[in-house]
Amino acid sequence: MITFSNVQKRYGAVPALIDINAEVARGEVVVVCGPSGSGKSTLIRTVNRLEEIQAGSIQFDGQEVHGSLRGKQLNRLRSRIGFVFQSFNLFPHLSALDNVMLSPIKINGASREAARATAMRLLDRVGLSNKIQSFPAQLSGGQQQRVAIARALAMEPPAMLFDEPTSALDPEMVGEVLAVMRSLASEGMTMMCVTHEMGFARDVADRVWFMDAGRILEAATPDEFFRNPQHERAKRFLADLR
Ligand code: ATP
Ligand code: MG
Repeated sequence: MITFSNVQKRYGAVPALIDINAEVARGEVVVVCGPSGSGKSTLIRTVNRLEEIQAGSIQFDGQEVHGSLRGKQLNRLRSRIGFVFQSFNLFPHLSALDNVMLSPIKINGASREAARATAMRLLDRVGLSNKIQSFPAQLSGGQQQRVAIARALAMEPPAMLFDEPTSALDPEMVGEVLAVMRSLASEGMTMMCVTHEMGFARDVADRVWFMDAGRILEAATPDEFFRNPQHERAKRFLADLR
């Protein structure tokens, strides 16, 4: 579903991704972890080309992401990759309902009625059917992040990317967002999640990728990774979490 082949990425002279070869299979949940600055955000942002790469290739659902796609074609590809950031990035002047309805109408040309029905179903699914008319400023962080997930799902993406979706939340709100992610995973959504929530990784991930200094040092099942990490750097990383 998502295939990285010999991907190299630099910011000026700073290498951010080095020799990335990895694959997220359809229906798989991959948790990307590793120390700060190891390249996790850069990696996930290359998948919908929020970051350019200097060499190698990335295929999403059989399509070359960093090839000749431009303008409309690139936007169409991006609309098929749900992206949820640490900061919720909702439109502040739109209600929860309108936030979720916007892209299907603007990008897919959906009718207001159809977009509304989908948005109501998705907001219900993330537990916010009583908040559809609320504006972002009237919602808690956890609620805003659940709206952001519903908004991404409204485009019916075949895969979802998450970059530390719970890092900006108060601790008591982390669980409600992870619960939505768990339910997505259990329904077979293909997911790539950068997160420090190792409980989520242990329970939900099919594979854990551990990054350090721009490389994927380990790609293992959670059981292998947590029980028997191979690299010194991974052992230290896990020890520091405890
Ligand atoms: P964190 O856990 O702190 O979010 P990360 O693993 O997501 O870290 P990245 O943000 O991908 O790490 O950064 C990887 C490397 O690239 C770091 O050395 C970082 O300083 C550098 N970097 C990231 N973004 C830029 C940028 N826009 N310009 C220059 N260097 C950057
Ligand atoms: Mg990051």
